[in-house]
Order: sequence, then structure tokens, then C-alpha cells
Amino acid sequence: MTEGLEAGWQRQFASDNTAGVCPEAMEALLAASRGWLPSYGNDELTRQVCDRLRDVFETDCDVYFVFNGTAANALALAAMCQSYHSVICADSAHVETDECGAPEFFSNGTKLLKAGTENGRIRLAEITALVRRRSDIHYPRPRVVSITQATELGTVYSAAQVAAVAAEARALGLGVHMDGARFANAVAALGCAPADLSWRAGVDVLCFGGTKMGLPVGEAVVFFDRALSAEFAWRCKQAGQLASKMRYLSAPWLGMLAGDAWLSHARHANRMAERLAERLVKLPGVSLHAPREANGVFVNLPQHCANQLRASGVDFYTFIGGAARFMCSWATTEAAVDELAQRIESLISETRTAP
Ligand SMILES: *Cc1c(COP(=O)(O)O)cnc(C)c1O
Repeated sequence: MTEGLEAGWQRQFASDNTAGVCPEAMEALLAASRGWLPSYGNDELTRQVCDRLRDVFETDCDVYFVFNGTAANALALAAMCQSYHSVICADSAHVETDECGAPEFFSNGTKLLKAGTENGRIRLAEITALVRRRSDIHYPRPRVVSITQATELGTVYSAAQVAAVAAEARALGLGVHMDGARFANAVAALGCAPADLSWRAGVDVLCFGGTKMGLPVGEAVVFFDRALSAEFAWRCKQAGQLASKMRYLSAPWLGMLAGDAWLSHARHANRMAERLAERLVKLPGVSLHAPREANGVFVNLPQHCANQLRASGVDFYTFIGGAARFMCSWATTEAAVDELAQRIESLISETRTAP
């Protein structure tokens, strides 16, 4: 059962959420567990984290903590839309493909409109086309563009690319939501200020992922447009997303944000993915499915190789157009990456030399 914990190397590359809690977050969690504090977020630790996030983003944003990314996205979108509105997102977006209709459910029917992508990034022209296509009363009125950072294909939007999406959205009268489940990896990859990748580029609401970054649980919903968060606390409570012992959701962020541990961990995860990609692209019959820009490597592997790799106990996804996805995290080691690359290399050379 704990094979993955004890084994000499990491077999889990299915997601960055297969890793444990990073030490900084765990220490902050343990420290937060001493004594008594007011519940439901009215505690000093939660206030401190919100202030720290305001420092990180260099602005007076409004911050809420929820248990997972699906709730963060669904509730944020619901706050931005009326039920007769629509949200434009990539056809590969997590909100569209992996949230079991939660955005539609929590918004009482807001429809998602799918736009085509290029390397995971939404095509600007498709946003325009989806809005311009119709303006009549029979069409769900476009209200928000939702983009994912880093994208579902492991690529990132540069600050200029976020700004271009936001400018197009603004011109069409739409707001901008960012699913930042891997926002840390994007910031680390680009080396820019978090503000430049969010509100300064035109993002109204950011779902800042904590789980994949190394927290035990929880995401922060960050409202840069405070008008949108007016009754968000009630929305969270009704959806069952208001933690009574809020300090356990919030305090780990204190450890994560202190000394920019979040960026060190994200940079490490990105480096591990880079290391893996560099090894894999050299192999015959292996190619990158999308450029490696953050902490994920999407590769086209020969089918037999993917099958045998999986049979040997390595866990990874093949849900994106058949490509194998290997995610690295704060906890992925160089040795683990090398072992994985070595295994893939052997599987490929075995079959090439077979009679
Ligand atoms: C992991 C992930 C989420 C959050 O998923 P939950 O399982 O609900 O926490 C949201 N968006 C993207 C792109 C993700 O990869």
C-alpha cells in the first residue's frame, strides 16, 4: 500500500498531486494546531495568509480558501456569471472536461462554450468568433473567458499572452478567470511577478492552486475585482466549502509563501520535467506532444513502450490525445527522473533489437 512511499524511486508520475506535503507547509500546519483559535476563518493565521497573498500580488485582493480546485473554479465562475451567461474556455479545459459539470451546477446553468487551442492555449480568434457568432436572446450570453495556467498541455501563457486574451475579452465585454491549479509552476517558469501574470495582465479572478504546489489540501480564490466577491462567503458556505477549522486550510500557505518556498518548489518541479524531457526527446520513436514549459512532460511513446512501462508499475496518464503525461512535483528527485528515463530507454532499445 505504501509502496510509493518506501520504494527507492518514484513510480507515480500520474499527477503532481500524488506527492506528499512539502516540509514548509507541514511545519506551518503543525504550528497552527497548537491551542484554540476562532473558527470559520475568523482567526489570526487566516488573516495573516490573506495579507501575505496581498503582498505576493502587490494589491489589495480579496482571498477565500476552499477545499479543492473544482470548487474554486466552479464557485469563482458562478460569482462572475448569471445563469443565462456562458463561459468561453479551451476545449481541453479542466472546467470543461474534468469537473463533472460543477461550473454549470454551481452557476445554475451557465453554459461552457469550447474554443480550440494551440499547444493548450486558447485561440484568440475563437473567443471572438464565439462571441460574435450570435447576439440574439436565444444564445447563452458570453460573460467570461477562462484560461488555465499552466495549461492542460503543460504549456504556459506568457504575461503578454494573458494580456492579449484579457484585452480581447475586455473589448468583447467579458471578464477573465484563470484556473491557476499550476500557477506556481507558470510563475516559476517565466520568472515574472505574480501580479504581471494575473491582475496587471487583466485577470479578474484567480484560482491559485495549493494542492499541486505541495499543500495538504486547498486552493485560494483570489479576487482582484472586489466587486465580484461581494457575497462569495455565502456561496462557499452553501456549497459546503467553508472550513470550520479554517486554519488547517490557510496556515500551510504561511509556510509555503515564507521565503518564497512555493517558487523554489515550483522551479524544482519544472527543472525535473525539463530533465526528463531532455532525456526522452533523444530516444528514437519518441517526440514531445507539446513543448515542455512547466512541470509536465507530454510525450508520444510507442504503444508497446507505454504498455510495458505501465505494466512495470509506473503510473501516468494517457488521456491527452494518446500522449503519455508525466508530472513532476516538489518531491520528484533527479534520481527518479533518471530511473524513469532509463526504463523508457531500455523498453525502446529492447524492441528495436528484438529479432
Ligand atoms: C488539478 C487541477 C484542478 C483542481 O482539481 P481538483 O481535483 O478539483 O482539486 C483544476 N484545474 C486544473 C487544470 C487541474 O490540473
